[in-house]
Amino acid sequence: MIDLLKDLIRIKSDSIEGANEALLYCQSWLLTRGIAPKLYEHDSKLMLVAEIGDGDECIIWNGHVDVVPGNPDQFTPFIDGDKLFGRGSADMKAGVAAMMQAFYELSLTTENLTKKVQLHIVTDEETVGDTSNYLVNKGFNGDFVICGEPTQLHIGLQAKGIVQVDIKIKGKSSHGSRPWEGVNAIERAFAFDNEMRKLSFMKASNRFYDYPSLNLAKIHAGERYNVVPDECVLSYDIRFVPGQNIDDILIEIQNMRKNHFPNCEILVHSTAPAVTTDENDKYVMKLQNVTSEMMKRPTNLFGQHGSADTRFYSEKGAGAIEFGPCGADWHGDMEYVSISSMEQYKNILVSFIVN
Ligand SMILES: [Zn+2]
Repeated sequence: MIDLLKDLIRIKSDSIEGANEALLYCQSWLLTRGIAPKLYEHDSKLMLVAEIGDGDECIIWNGHVDVVPGNPDQFTPFIDGDKLFGRGSADMKAGVAAMMQAFYELSLTTENLTKKVQLHIVTDEETVGDTSNYLVNKGFNGDFVICGEPTQLHIGLQAKGIVQVDIKIKGKSSHGSRPWEGVNAIERAFAFDNEMRKLSFMKASNRFYDYPSLNLAKIHAGERYNVVPDECVLSYDIRFVPGQNIDDILIEIQNMRKNHFPNCEILVHSTAPAVTTDENDKYVMKLQNVTSEMMKRPTNLFGQHGSADTRFYSEKGAGAIEFGPCGADWHGDMEYVSISSMEQYKNILVSFIVN
């Protein structure tokens, strides 16, 4: 399993071609162990699905083999004590390798399996998540989905949803020496931003989150010193709390616009639902028990601030969580995964299915 992880790290999967190569490597690793996964392709991006077991229940393990770009030397894995360093070690080739190993071990004794286990390996989680979305839309969904993102062997139960909007604020240009003859769109944008932060949707909270987040990500305006700018576009990335509703948030922004900035325009760039998996979900409770027993410590439930491929499964009604081994500095220069936690993770995955 560690060799498999090292091989995967050596494949520079920070592009579509590289991620496809890593996926084909996973396919051949499974094939040589008697497992025949089905390959799918969408927009030149590959994904694979393998299934074992039988029964009414279906548990899905989802992992991505694409990584964010790294330093060239991060694609040469190295071990220091319990730490295996390399781009994608934690996020999330360790999760993928452990899932493949666990899947292989279960495949040796399928007659004992009273439920289906599906392995989904995808290639674009770090960019758009189209490949997981594609599989879900093709009908590959289950009762419970584990995405093997690094979570220190605790359970990422929920994830915030996303609303991204562009606000086009209109002003009126004039000569920079006579600004009182125009309306400065940048100054109006400041006022808009002020109002935005006072809206009531910004005060939502639940057990896992104290508030939503609002990131003013881009500002486009102004060309010359001597001209009053007549347009300013603000781009916001809002991450809302599970339980909040996308339409309600947009309506509140629209109402504020109507009242205070009638001639500005709101364009929705994209939205994504929150992951709202319930802490009383029977699979969550079982995984919590199995993990706590194996690790001899309590297993926490927590809310993720960023989103993962869990959202596509959760949107269609499956309980979906993030759960993976221990590590640090993913997307950073010193990314590593704990080798012992990867072993424990693999054992927990197997035990969760057979017990
Ligand atoms: Zn990831």
